[in-house]
Amino acid sequence: MTRQHFLKIALDVPLDRLFDYLDGGLEIAPGQRVVVPFGRRKQIGIVVEVSDHSDVPADKLKSILQAFSNEPPLDAETFALLRFCADYYQYPYGQALLSALPTRLRQTEPAVSRKQHVYALTDAGRAAGMESIPLRKALQWRLFAALLQNAELSEAALAELSSGWRKAMQVLTECGWVQATEVLARLKNSIKASATEPELNQDQIQALQAMCETQGFKPWLLHGITGSGKTEVYIRLLQSVLAANDGQALVLVPEINLTPQLEARFRSRLPEFPMVSLHSNLSESERLLNWRLAQSGQARIVIGTRLAVFTPMPELRMVIVDEEHDGSYKQQDGMRYHARDVALMRAKRRNVPIVLGSATPALETWHNAHTGKYGLLKLADRAVLTAKLPNIRCIDVSKGGTQDGLSPILVEAMRERLTRGEQSLLFINRRGYAPVLLCSACNWIAPCSRCSSRLVVHLRQGRLRCHHCGHEEKITRQCPSCGNPDLHPTGHGTQRLEATLAALFPEARILRVDRDSTRRKHALTDMLTAVHADEVDILVGTQMLAKGHDFPNLTLVGVMDTDSALFSPDFRAAERLFAQLMQVAGRAGRADKAGEVLIQTAFPDHALFNALREQNYAAYAQQLLQERRQTQFPPYAYMVLLRAEANDYGMVQRFLTYAADKARELSEKVTIYDPVRPQMERLKGMERGHLLIQANSRPPLQRLLKTLVANLSAHPLNAKIRWAVDVDPLEF
Ligand code: ADP
Ligand code: ZN
Ligand code: ZN
Repeated sequence: MTRQHFLKIALDVPLDRLFDYLDGGLEIAPGQRVVVPFGRRKQIGIVVEVSDHSDVPADKLKSILQAFSNEPPLDAETFALLRFCADYYQYPYGQALLSALPTRLRQTEPAVSRKQHVYALTDAGRAAGMESIPLRKALQWRLFAALLQNAELSEAALAELSSGWRKAMQVLTECGWVQATEVLARLKNSIKASATEPELNQDQIQALQAMCETQGFKPWLLHGITGSGKTEVYIRLLQSVLAANDGQALVLVPEINLTPQLEARFRSRLPEFPMVSLHSNLSESERLLNWRLAQSGQARIVIGTRLAVFTPMPELRMVIVDEEHDGSYKQQDGMRYHARDVALMRAKRRNVPIVLGSATPALETWHNAHTGKYGLLKLADRAVLTAKLPNIRCIDVSKGGTQDGLSPILVEAMRERLTRGEQSLLFINRRGYAPVLLCSACNWIAPCSRCSSRLVVHLRQGRLRCHHCGHEEKITRQCPSCGNPDLHPTGHGTQRLEATLAALFPEARILRVDRDSTRRKHALTDMLTAVHADEVDILVGTQMLAKGHDFPNLTLVGVMDTDSALFSPDFRAAERLFAQLMQVAGRAGRADKAGEVLIQTAFPDHALFNALREQNYAAYAQQLLQERRQTQFPPYAYMVLLRAEANDYGMVQRFLTYAADKARELSEKVTIYDPVRPQMERLKGMERGHLLIQANSRPPLQRLLKTLVANLSAHPLNAKIRWAVDVDPLEF
């Protein structure tokens, strides 16, 4: 008789343990996907361990139903990384592990990756031009136009354009105007390098040398303003690290919007290294394919957003985190990990260097760079010598003088740009500063019925919309509180500002870029193309515009509505505002035209603006760090937030009070605050509460959490309350 093997299997269930199953006579290796019976359902599981022992009597154990034995197994390093994260972020291991996998691998079916193609115009197609396509072939037109705008398009991108794309594309291919290349084939073929290599400046050389000399784990902060040549340094670093061996590199970027840009730049500069991207705009099959290419070591560079930090990479030699301060690295539900921090842990466990790049590092990172925990490398100037720093000024609006939110100075500056044929950008700090429906008689403001937030006016649709829960209603004319029949929108949302500008500059071509106008996929890309083609005079937008885009003809940035962030109860608001304004200021004058930034504020002498005018992040960071030290906020303390919500706040409060009492009983080295209601008291109809826990070092905090979480899971209210532990929270 053959010996019985016991499989320790991770399942997507909210229990922090593995489950024992019998192998059912199948040959199973660790890391394999299996289907198991769980309760009355089938579940996908990952075999973490094959053992000859189980604590459960064999006759109580069930056998697995199926094994996907010809799929490549998950490696031990990925297990270890997710085990570590599950512990650190207090999340069930099985769920952590499964949520790190592409969706296809979480299904109870074999995951085969179909062959994928990318499509691009041929030289013949380019020469033939759009006009060669018969007028009535509308779909062919659209595909051709899309290919003119994009170097290549994936099947997923094309499917979004039209579900019937394949037939039309076949015609174009048969004409010889379009070429289809299999993704895998392209991965192996090297693409012709087109871009030229600039000669590095002194700062860049120094940074590169320092980084190339290090062996093993070493975190570097690469601090340099936008345009100082950080990306150029990444490229050279990748060249030298990857050329030396068969290694792989992981590059994390904050936003999907930026991935294609960086990807294109890397592809043209690093043609010899097969590269894949991983982000949520990929189709499930593309995602699986790219993930597998990373897992097999065939992809040498993996560029991706947050979740890509867990991608198995057997030959990982180096990690780069671009814009490391960006809040989108933090996952806000499920396992609330911070991808930059996970990347640091991963690099450490793997013993490889990691580079964090930013113009405005997170204060945590800045602190670590100054206590010597990280190496600090600076790029002091803009890399293109003719690209001047923008001239930053504040416009004092404390004494009024604005009309529809615009000061005469700003209007005049925009007019000048119009006459010169240059572009302006009006930046609104947040979607949250959107217009609300206000009664001027009694100050009633239209509220959301499900959240403690205000409804935002969307004039064009004639609707009020809640930006937190999506609740919508019609705009009312009459005040429900006092009967005043003349309600009107107030505040300067992007839509309202767009209307004001259209009235001021009837001849100008105005483009609004916010979450509403870019809801359609590829809308943002199309808009950016229009800006580059100089089809736009004035851009109105939120922070979506602030990041990474390079508009050579943009010479004026106007900034509106920032003041509430100066005095926000959120201790990170000022840090965030500074980063945002630095970034948006970086949009002005990237090419040879000098840029100007005009900030409308009632507090022109605020330290933040002084530092901004001098583009002196270091000075402001110093001041903020001092404040953080005095108040004992991060990075001088470590925080954990216990979030809870239920239909009834009484329940939430009882639960959090129990948690607070229990925590106080469990640890003395940790400060436990009282339960509070967050700024957003209700969300989507749920009453919310927070409990803040804080300590001066991590170990006692981690010890406390482990016991506390076990206690709370066993609490009678556990089933009635939705709760989560947020370690190192960013939002409160
Ligand atoms: P960052 O990533 O810091 O914003 P980039 O690497 O994108 O900066 O560089 C900004 C611009 O300057 C790019 O157009 C890049 O090609 C160019 N550049 C970078 N380094 C140099 C250099 N040493 N000499 C000339 N141009 C450079
Ligand atoms: Zn709401
Ligand atoms: Zn009223």
